[in-house]
Amino acid sequence: MAEKVLAGIDLGGTKLLAVLVDGEGRVLASDEQPTYADQGADRVIGRMVELVNGLLGERYELTGVGVATAGTLNPNGGLIEIATNLGWKDVPLGLELERRLGVPVTVENDANAAAYGEWKAGAGVGTQDCVFITVSTGIGGGIVSGGRLVRGKTASAGELGHITIDWNGPKCPCGNVGCLELYASGTAIGRAAAAAAEADPIRGAKLLELAGGVKMTSRHASEAAKAGDPLAAEVLREAGRALGAGLVSMVHMANPELIILGGGASHIGEPLLGPMRDMLDERVIGSMGRGVRIVPPTLGTEAGAIGAALMAGA
Ligand SMILES: [Zn+2]
Repeated sequence: MAEKVLAGIDLGGTKLLAVLVDGEGRVLASDEQPTYADQGADRVIGRMVELVNGLLGERYELTGVGVATAGTLNPNGGLIEIATNLGWKDVPLGLELERRLGVPVTVENDANAAAYGEWKAGAGVGTQDCVFITVSTGIGGGIVSGGRLVRGKTASAGELGHITIDWNGPKCPCGNVGCLELYASGTAIGRAAAAAAEADPIRGAKLLELAGGVKMTSRHASEAAKAGDPLAAEVLREAGRALGAGLVSMVHMANPELIILGGGASHIGEPLLGPMRDMLDERVIGSMGRGVRIVPPTLGTEAGAIGAALMAGA
């Protein structure tokens, strides 16, 4: 008899990543394909179906599908209202996949799906209250409270990159002002390093040399700081303090026992994370901050797909 499985698909702007998992979130099979978003929604949905069917073969029986994606969702019916990374508007993705695959489909915000995956099958297993935050090009996250993922009205609760750090700060593309993402994302770190090196080319010599005339990134800042460059260390310290200030707000809001901190920029390590932890220790309300553990995620790039699959089975 075929083994019952759930499928999860991470629908990204450049690639589709699909997994089959069991009820505990163990990955039984996975595969990925380019999205080719420019070919239109119908073709992309067709490729999602092929990807899942290819993984199922004769061996597995599909019981549900979860899709993790960016964009504005109407979770009822799995409608993608606007997805700028795909160029989609009002695509009834959930209904369309249900029709073609013949099982219930749930469509979820990608950061929340990753938070759910890490909570159920990764670093957060066994906790009831945890915050997941991912720091890469942007900053995203999700909140688990009282043993439940906080989804919110439009399934996008936990937009941790867009909590306000400076209400008089620069304008964010999201419409808000002074968002955390503008200070502590990989993009922001690269931008701050470039500005600092440009303002003081003598102190910025190491950064300028590493960037080699191309666009400066957080990786250059990280390398320079690891080589002992004081300017790069200052840039990362400021970003780390901003991240810490964001975490203070998250702890005050969600009172977690665990913070799962992942994403490309989190690999910068101590030059970023040291100032972040200091900020948290200095500023969080004592009883809430005491004993909050900060750990890396364990599921890697499959977290969103695994989480979406498990949400489909919940
Ligand atoms: Zn914002």
